[in-house]
This record gives sequence, C-alpha cells and structure tokens, in this order.
Amino acid sequence: MECPKCNNTMSEIPDMALSASKCNGCHGIWFRDGSHETAKSIKDSGEIDTPSNNAASAYNSVRDIDCPECMKKMIKMVDKTQLHIEFEACTYCNGVFFDAGEFKDYSEYKILERVKQAFQTLRSNLS
Ligand SMILES: [Zn+2]
Ligand SMILES: [Zn+2]
Repeated sequence: MECPKCNNTMSEIPDMALSASKCNGCHGIWFRDGSHETAKSIKDSGEIDTPSNNAASAYNSVRDIDCPECMKKMIKMVDKTQLHIEFEACTYCNGVFFDAGEFKDYSEYKILERVKQAFQTLRSNLS
C-alpha cells in the first residue's frame, strides 16, 4: 500500500489486533475500517506511533488526500474530545489516517480521562 500523503510504502503493523499499517516515510498510520477505535482501547497501543519530527509535521498540512484503499477523496475530521487532533477519514471503507504523533496523543486521552474521573468519584465519595 502507498502512503496517501508522501507516497512512500506502508508496512503492516505486526500486531494483528491493531489492523493498521505505518508509513516508512512520514510515519503516518493507517487504520482499516475504523480500527483506531479498537486500537485506542488496547493497552500501550500508542507505542506503535513515532513522535513527529520536522519532516513528518510538514505532512500535517497535506489534507486533500485520497484513500489508499479505495482511491476516493477522504474527508477531514477533528476528534470530538481533542480538537487539536486532525485526521482524515474515508467514508467508503471507514479507514482513518493519523499523522505521526497523533495516534499516541489520541490513545492517551482515555487514560488521562480515567484518572480524572477516578479523582472526581473519590471526591464525591468523601463529601
Ligand atoms: Zn507517508
Ligand atoms: Zn477507503
């Protein structure tokens, strides 16, 4: 498969549970059929992500891309809970493309939220 952003090849991530491929060039990650939702709930799944560097972040602004699987134009999305995370989604196959560094950010939100909620529960139990 070819990366929709930088046209380098994308390699399948060995962890089959994730159902994802990673670009050898810009390190963007492609999740098949909405599998980013499942991947988010897998412990330490953010470790598959490579932190963004200057070369990779140049591709953050490349947003008019075609789905690497169906060649259809993808739509631009923003994560509802973390508005700074922008990604591209295919409305035909539900595939999602995250730029380097974004999936780690996305996957860690849940853990942070859980901690926050735990504190709130604790506080309300005390009062
Ligand atoms: Zn790429
Ligand atoms: Zn597609």
